[in-house]
Amino acid sequence: MKGSDMLLELDHISKIYGDLKAVDDLNLTVPQGQWLAIVGSSGSGKTTLMNMIGCMDTPSKGSVMLEGRKLEDLSAKQLADVRKNMIGLVFQKFYLVPHLTAVENVMVAQYYHSVVNERQALEALERVGLKERAHHLPGQLSGGEQQRVCIARALINCPKIILADEPTGNLDEKNERIVLDLFRDLHEQGTTIIVVTHDALVASQAEREIMLGHGVLVGEKWNDEAARTAYEQAGGKPAFTGSSAEGAQRADDLPIGFADPTKSAKTGGEAYEA
Ligand code: ADP
Ligand code: MG
Repeated sequence: MKGSDMLLELDHISKIYGDLKAVDDLNLTVPQGQWLAIVGSSGSGKTTLMNMIGCMDTPSKGSVMLEGRKLEDLSAKQLADVRKNMIGLVFQKFYLVPHLTAVENVMVAQYYHSVVNERQALEALERVGLKERAHHLPGQLSGGEQQRVCIARALINCPKIILADEPTGNLDEKNERIVLDLFRDLHEQGTTIIVVTHDALVASQAEREIMLGHGVLVGEKWNDEAARTAYEQAGGKPAFTGSSAEGAQRADDLPIGFADPTKSAKTGGEAYEA
């Protein structure tokens, strides 16, 4: 796999608001099927980065490439198609329509994809273990169940990439576990997962973690050595900020220590952001 065969390539991307560099000259490649966590304290640029990956925002500088296509070269229509066909979004807030049942909420998303089909919507709910709750309103569902409806909704277009921004931020441990198990199933089916999280336990489930601080890369670590070897053998490089000469280094000799998530997993206390 050459660099250009990566599913996602971020080439020196920045997002600048006045004097603030929310994301500052970031380089990252993600192959098909990778499960990546993006961690960092509040305001470090995680959501800004996700929005650029998800075609919801454009970089001030640099390029985002999906399947070798530069997003900046696409027309509005093509961009909308990429968003529709390739990407599934899951947020911390559920954004469910309160007066529609679970299955109807999934069907709203189908409507957007022009494929309203109740049977398929029920199947999507079955996939996330919610068949029995299909005709309940969001207010009659627990937080974890509501988030699973959102995941079902995100899956209806069989997206290549799931982008999840703090998906377990509103969940208790038990429901967090259920959502992580769903991500594991999707990962095993080959879906690329990029999850932004404050939670060290959630991050530790990913194959690879990158840490942002003030918009720049401050750490990278692998939780799955086999995945790392495969990535490196395929020509995958560590993420970096700025020029590759000063930035591209191996995860184990980064200048700034990557807070070890295993030491702050939910069992033991704090997440990244104290
Ligand atoms: P995170 O998701 O890591 O908490 P964000 O990506 O939301 O961080 O924000 C990164 C920085 O960019 C913050 O300082 C935030 O205030 C700033 N920021 C985000 N969006 C905007 C915007 N639309 N206009 C101005 N500043 C923004
Ligand atoms: Mg955020």
